[in-house]
Formats: sequence, C-alpha cells, structure tokens
Amino acid sequence: MKALVKHSPKMGIWMEDVDNPICGTNDVKIKITHTAICGTDIHIYDWDEWAQKNLNLPLIVGHEFCGIIEEIGNGVTHYEVGERVSGEGHLTCGYCRNCRAGKRHLCHKTKGVGIHRSGAFAEYLVIPESNVWPIHKDIPSEIAAFFDPFGNAVHTALTYDLTGEDVLISGAGPIGIMAAAICKFSGSRNIVITDINDYRLDLALKLGATKAINPKIENIKDVFKELNINHGFDIGLEMSGNPEAFNQMINHMYNGGNIALLGLLPESTTINWNDVIFKGLNIKGIYGRKMYDTWYKMTQMIRSGLSISEVLTHRYKVDDYQDAFKILKSGNCGKVILEW
Ligand code: NAD
Ligand code: ZN
Repeated sequence: MKALVKHSPKMGIWMEDVDNPICGTNDVKIKITHTAICGTDIHIYDWDEWAQKNLNLPLIVGHEFCGIIEEIGNGVTHYEVGERVSGEGHLTCGYCRNCRAGKRHLCHKTKGVGIHRSGAFAEYLVIPESNVWPIHKDIPSEIAAFFDPFGNAVHTALTYDLTGEDVLISGAGPIGIMAAAICKFSGSRNIVITDINDYRLDLALKLGATKAINPKIENIKDVFKELNINHGFDIGLEMSGNPEAFNQMINHMYNGGNIALLGLLPESTTINWNDVIFKGLNIKGIYGRKMYDTWYKMTQMIRSGLSISEVLTHRYKVDDYQDAFKILKSGNCGKVILEW
C-alpha cells in the first residue's frame, strides 16, 4: 500500500510502497479516506530535537484520520465492514491504575499512533476495536479527520465551567480557534484570543472569538473597557506553547481564575509565581482527550449546532503532500486535509 514514511533521520517525509497492515483478532482495519496534518507531523518532518529523541525509524506517520472499515478481526463485536469511523490515536494499556479508574488519558503506558507505532498516513490503518470511534452520518469525513485536535480543544475548554465567563485563549492555531468556537457555543461572555499571525486571528473571529489581539501591536488590557471586563479573565486556555503568551495570560487573570495548559512550553519557561499565589490561580495540565467522554461531547456538540468547518482551510490530494506541509509550515492556514 501507499504510505507517507519517515525513513531517514533527516528533513523530509517520503511516499513509499509498504506492506499492508495485518488485522488482528480484536483489531479493525480502516481504509483511510481523509487525514489531517498536525503540528507533531511537522516536528517529525523537520526531524527536530523532540523527534530525534522520541521516534524509531522507519515510521508511517500521521494520527488524524477518517476512513471506512475494510476488515474486522474475529473478536470484534461492535463494528461492521463499511462503517465510517475515526479513532483515538492514544493506545492505552487498559490495566494500570488510571486505565482501570476510567482515566485512560492518564495511562502511563500510552503508545501514540504515528509516533510509537505505524500511523494513519497510509491507505490502511489497523487499530484495536476499543480505539475506534463511529462517525455519525451528519458529520462529514473531512471534519471527522481532525477529531483528534478538535478533541484537544474540547477537553481543554470544557475543563472549567465556561458559561457567562470571560475567557482568554492564547494561540490561534487550529486548536485555539476551535476552542473559541466551543466557548461561544457554551455561552462564554467574552472570548479574547491572541496570536502573532493575523491570518489566524481573522479566522478566530469568524469562528466565534469576541476580540482577536496581536500582542505585538495591541495591549490585552486595552480591550478591557470596550468589553466591560473589570479586573481580568476568569478562564485562561493556553494553546500557543509560547512562554511570553503564558506570562501575559497570568498577568491578565482575575483573582481565583482557572488556567488550562495545553500548549507545550519549552523547559526553560519561567513565570511570576507570586502572581499565581497572590491571585490564587488554579493551573491544570491537559493531555490528549478523555476516553471517551471527549469523543462523545465532540459528536453531540456538532450534532447540536457547533460549527468548526471554517477552521478547515486547505485540501490537497495526498500525492501533493509536500505542498500541504509547506502551507502548514507557513502558518497561513487553519486545518490542512490530505485526501487519499
Ligand atoms: P499551532 O502551532 O498551530 O498554534 C500555536 C499558535 O500560537 C500559532 O498560531 C502561533 O502563531 C501562536 N503564537 C506563537 N507565539 C505567540 C504569542 N506570543 N502569543 C500568542 N500566540 C502565539 O498549534 P496547535 O496545533 O493549534 O496546538 C496548540 C498547542 O497545543 C501547541 O503548542 C501544541 O504542541 C499543543 N498540543 C498539546 C497537546 C496535549 O495533549 N497537551 C495536544 C495537541 C497539541
Ligand atoms: Zn494504562
């Protein structure tokens, strides 16, 4: 089958002909129709320090996907050939303390599709039945293809009660933009989003942000009066991975505020801890998606009117994957889809 493979420890990803994956007893084999490119795939493409430390090559990359079930193992009980599905890319052990407590997103033995094992940028993907998520007929495949990052946005945004609250989102990448849409859908009062990329700020406004700020040009505090914000934000969703943005967030929170951290900050990041202490801030790290509460919320929110389709800005045939990676690297895009 055709697959996008990282075969050498240098810049690039290559289209190759590889063996078809074998469908085990409890596995589902999916014929991939749509995939989406994640920031992680760019790290792998560029072969940066993180990729060098974490990957064993060769590796079929990719973990954001949608497709149609082609084959099921003998032990599979809940799915049939022909069903349209996506799936959770974190394979968990099922037996550790967290898995058994129903907190599988906190499993310490998690293996990532397209990171620790073969990924989804291929004609076929095999994953355990328990990781498969059925796609409702009202949800287009190209949207289901990025349920993984949509799930990051849902998991982060729904960590705290958003209703009536003033929310600051730092980083208008695809996840920050989707988070803005979720906050709007959930009844937040003001949704202020920051980024240094104007293309993405415009997109965030289209999807529901009240105000989009480029902190290089405008001061966050300058919009308080216009938006009737007295002392600061109630909720902060950090989705940039940028230390400056995280510090600005801490600076602009109201006392007792809640911050959820999704963005991956560099180890060297420092913050003003006194602000955290004297303001009594609550800071929580967010990893992946809740299995499978987040997936349920994603499906039902879309079915009840949440629209994230405008975050999808570019579609490419898979043979043009180099162009797709190029546009994502430029930053002048939302989600970028590869059609298989
Ligand atoms: P992305 O890189 O597309 O978006 C990050 C955005 O932050 C970019 O648009 C960038 O311009 C912006 N930014 C940079 N400096 C900024 C600043 N000073 N102020 C405001 N914005 C700034 O990433 P994404 O795919 O949307 O993901 C968001 C973050 O979440 C990334 O850091 C990613 O690594 C992380 N992530 C974490 C998890 C998890 O499980 N914790 C899962 C997926 C992604
Ligand atoms: Zn586990």
